[in-house]
Amino acid sequence: MNASISISEKISEFLKNVEQHSDLNAFITINSELDSLAAISDERIAAGLARPLEGVTVAVKDNISIKGMQLTCGSKILNGFQPLYNATVVELLTDAGALMVAKTNMDEFAMGSSNETSYFGPVRNPHNKQCVPGGSSGGSAVAVAAGICDVALGSDTGGSIRQPAAFCGVYGFKPTYGRVSRYGLTAFASSLDQIGIFSNNITDMRNVFRVIAKHDKFDSTSHVNAAFNEDANTNGNANTNGNANGNANTEPLAEIRVGKLAEKYLVGCAPEIISAYNAMLQDMVQRGCVVEEVLLPNIETWIPTYFILATAEASSNLARFDGVRYGNRVGDGTSDFITDSRTDGFGEEVKRRIMLGTYVLSSGYYDAYYKKAQQARRLISNAYATMFTTVDVLALPTTPTTAFPIGDKTADVVSMWLSDLYTVSANIAGIPAISIPYGKDGKGLPIGLQLQSAMFTDEMLLDVAEQITLACAT
Ligand code: GLN
Repeated sequence: MNASISISEKISEFLKNVEQHSDLNAFITINSELDSLAAISDERIAAGLARPLEGVTVAVKDNISIKGMQLTCGSKILNGFQPLYNATVVELLTDAGALMVAKTNMDEFAMGSSNETSYFGPVRNPHNKQCVPGGSSGGSAVAVAAGICDVALGSDTGGSIRQPAAFCGVYGFKPTYGRVSRYGLTAFASSLDQIGIFSNNITDMRNVFRVIAKHDKFDSTSHVNAAFNEDANTNGNANTNGNANGNANTEPLAEIRVGKLAEKYLVGCAPEIISAYNAMLQDMVQRGCVVEEVLLPNIETWIPTYFILATAEASSNLARFDGVRYGNRVGDGTSDFITDSRTDGFGEEVKRRIMLGTYVLSSGYYDAYYKKAQQARRLISNAYATMFTTVDVLALPTTPTTAFPIGDKTADVVSMWLSDLYTVSANIAGIPAISIPYGKDGKGLPIGLQLQSAMFTDEMLLDVAEQITLACAT
């Protein structure tokens, strides 16, 4: 975040950058009131009344509501829809002085791993424009990776922040479920959805998280202890270093216990990702961590469990888009206009998920699929809880490969879904997880590695990620 220019100048820079990078297709809507908002920020700075995030530019995924700005969820069915209220995260950031500069392109209703399912066309990866940026929060990842915005908000239901962060070479953080309010986020799979942050460094990430981690009475799943814990340090205990401003503990990683995956869990990973993973673990050992192999007995159940639960919840959540209440309506309001509106308004991937979700919830198959997936979810959460009694952090790849070419996986849905292998479990278990940029492959495409930790240890996770970054930079 560059403090040497005025916020008004920063906004004209932003608008120029948006123009210059229009081929990336990262944005759906640009805030039309930026000039007056920037002027207010400049006045506050001049008067010595700057708020904690004064003039910070935030790109917001287009499934998060900003009053007065169209909200599309990347779908034709919502094209032109004007929401009537701000999401809680938007309220909190605006009150802290941040500027909501734009709404970002995304996979339709956050369903996808490549940003190719958007009604507004694919987003392109700034590191190679023939490649996908990842999804579903691809536009938010690109906005930060291309340096157009300071930070961005995304939503992560099964990896949609971490995976595009990895593909674009930025940080992507999914907090513990319940620490950031989902009020004003269009639901995909409510028990898995979590709003999180993209940034170019951990300081920005921490500053934004400090503002948006807050209990919210408008979200019944918001946790009463959601607020940022200034006293947490890298050991997750009270901070005894007298670090009054709550910034990162810059001590080495002494005594952090890190779990690593056995080699068999890395089968299918690109060799360069495995090398980066091993290098990171090596760095951690050198910095005083204790690294040990951990058992994750049910890894093969992660993807099926996720896709059953996520599609079941999606089929119910998306029932509200009927051509009556929101956005696009086909026909004259008589005959089959609900069917016609949904047929016309939803894309192929969304229809696939609604059909699968309806099937797994149907009376004849409920026990065989949905109930079993709920049971598997419990086993996965239990396995994580047990593992976190022996390690503080689990290190794993974010993705099995780096960014793939646009169009490469669109014909093979299963291979697309399998690309979420390492990310979905954090949502199933509700735990915090972060993807950190860790070098590039031979083609110059970014590699992202992931750290996960127990529920409510988000502050510790950010501290550890910061230390790893320092290691990577040296
Ligand atoms: N790629 C996953 C999916 O398609 C995750 C999506 C998400 O996190 N929103 O379901």
